[in-house]
Amino acid sequence: MSIVEDNKNLENLDRKYLWHPFTQMKEWQEETPVVIAEGRDCFIKDTYGRWYLDGVSSLWVNIFGHRKKEIDDAIRKQLENIAHSTLLGLSNVPAIRLAEKLVQLVDTSLSKVFYSDNGSTAVEVALKMAFQYWKNKGIDGRNTFISLRNAYHGDTLGAVSVGGIDIFHKTFEPLLFKTYKAPSPYCYRCELGKTYPRCKFACLGEMDRILCDHAGEIAGLIIEPLIQAAGGMITSPSGYLKGVRELCSKYNILMIADEVATGFGRTGKMFACEHEDVIPDIMCLSKGITGGYMPLAATLATDELSSAFLGEFGDMKTFFHGHSYTGNPLACAAALACLDLFEKEHVLENLKGKIAVLEAWLQEIVQLTHVGDVRNAGFMAGIELVEDKETKRPYDRKEKMGWRVAHCAREQGVFIRPLGNVIVVMPPLAISEQNLVQMMKVLKETIPAATGA
Ligand code: PMP
Repeated sequence: MSIVEDNKNLENLDRKYLWHPFTQMKEWQEETPVVIAEGRDCFIKDTYGRWYLDGVSSLWVNIFGHRKKEIDDAIRKQLENIAHSTLLGLSNVPAIRLAEKLVQLVDTSLSKVFYSDNGSTAVEVALKMAFQYWKNKGIDGRNTFISLRNAYHGDTLGAVSVGGIDIFHKTFEPLLFKTYKAPSPYCYRCELGKTYPRCKFACLGEMDRILCDHAGEIAGLIIEPLIQAAGGMITSPSGYLKGVRELCSKYNILMIADEVATGFGRTGKMFACEHEDVIPDIMCLSKGITGGYMPLAATLATDELSSAFLGEFGDMKTFFHGHSYTGNPLACAAALACLDLFEKEHVLENLKGKIAVLEAWLQEIVQLTHVGDVRNAGFMAGIELVEDKETKRPYDRKEKMGWRVAHCAREQGVFIRPLGNVIVVMPPLAISEQNLVQMMKVLKETIPAATGA
C-alpha cells in the first residue's frame, strides 16, 4: 500500500470508528481529518509530513515541547522497573517522590496529595473531600457549593454541576446537584452592567451577599484562579482572587482552587494563586503536571482538611474514592522529570520576556476591526472576535468565526482551537521567541482574512 493509500485508509477508519470529543461528528465526517503521527519541539506532524505549530499545547498540557529527551528517558527508565501498580493498599516509588515535591512546590500547608488521572477527576475528588470534611466534623447541612458563571471544571457530572457555561452544561441540568452561582469577573461584558474599576468589585459584593444568606448550606467555593479558561480566557482584575479568599475565610467555607489549566507556569508563576498570595484549602492540578506526556492529576489538601478524615476503621471517616490508575508510576516519573526541567531550564525566568512579546502582539491585534478585546494571564491568552467593535456585538455562533480563523491559521501551519468567538493562544512554555512571533504574525494576518476586515 502506498503512503497516500495508507493515509486514506486511516482517515476512513477514523471516520468509521472514532467519536471525537466536543465535536459535531456529522461535520467531522464531511471533512478530511488531520491525523498526527509525530511531534518534535513545539511542532506536530501529520501523516502527509506537514508540520504545524502546536498553538494549543495539545490542549493546554504541553510545556517543554514534544519528544523532550529528559521526559522520554524518565518514562523509559521507569518502564524498566514497572509500568503500573495500584495505590489501593500499596504504594510506589515515583508516587511518593512526586507527592513530596508537589507539597514543597505548592505551599507546605497543602500537605496531602491525592492522585487521580485527569482534571475532571481532580475536581470530583476536591468536591467530595470538601463535602465529606464537614460530615466528618459532625457539621450537617453543608450540602452545596458556590461556583462562578462561565466556570469550567471538567465534564464529569460533579464538575459539570459547578460549571457555568450553558452551551456545554445546560443539557445535563436535570442530573446536576444544586449550586449557587456568583457573577463571572468578565469586565469586558460585565453581567452587572458595571465598569471596572469604578464598580469597586461589585461582583465580589454579589458573592458576599450570596454567602451571607447561604454560607451554612455551602461546603466550599470552587474557582479557576486569575483566568476562567474554557469560559473564554476571562481574566479577573488584580485583587479579585484575594477578595474571594477573604470571603471564604469570612464565611468559613473551603476554597478550592482549580489550577488544572493555570498550574505549572502557565500564568508566569508556578501556580496562579501565587500572584495574589492566596493559599486555598484544596488545590486541583493536572494538565501540565507531566509536561503534557501522561494523564495524571493531583488534589492537594491542607492538614486541617486531611486530618478530619482520620479515625478508627469503624468510624466511617475514610475517603471512599480512588481510580484504577491512581498514582500511575509512569505518569509520576514523567512528572518528576518535568519538575526537574522547570528548575534546570529556568522556565519561569525565561518566560518573562516571552510574555512581554505576547502582550505586545496582543496590543497590535486588538487594533483589528473585528477584535473586541484581548486578555491574558501570562502565557494563557484569548482574542475575542466581535462583529461590531462599537457595540461589542458578538458573531452569531452559527457563523463559526473562531473556527474560520482557526482553519485559515492551520493552512498557514499553525494549529489553534477556538472557544466560540475567542481565539486561544496557548503555545508550549518552551516555545522559542521566533516561533512565538511567527504564530502571532499568522494570527494577525488570518483574523482579517477570515473576518473580511
Ligand atoms: N478544570 C479546568 C480549569 C480546565 O481547564 C479543565 C480542562 N480544560 C478541567 C478542569 C478538566 O480537565 P480534563 O479535561 O483533564 O478532565
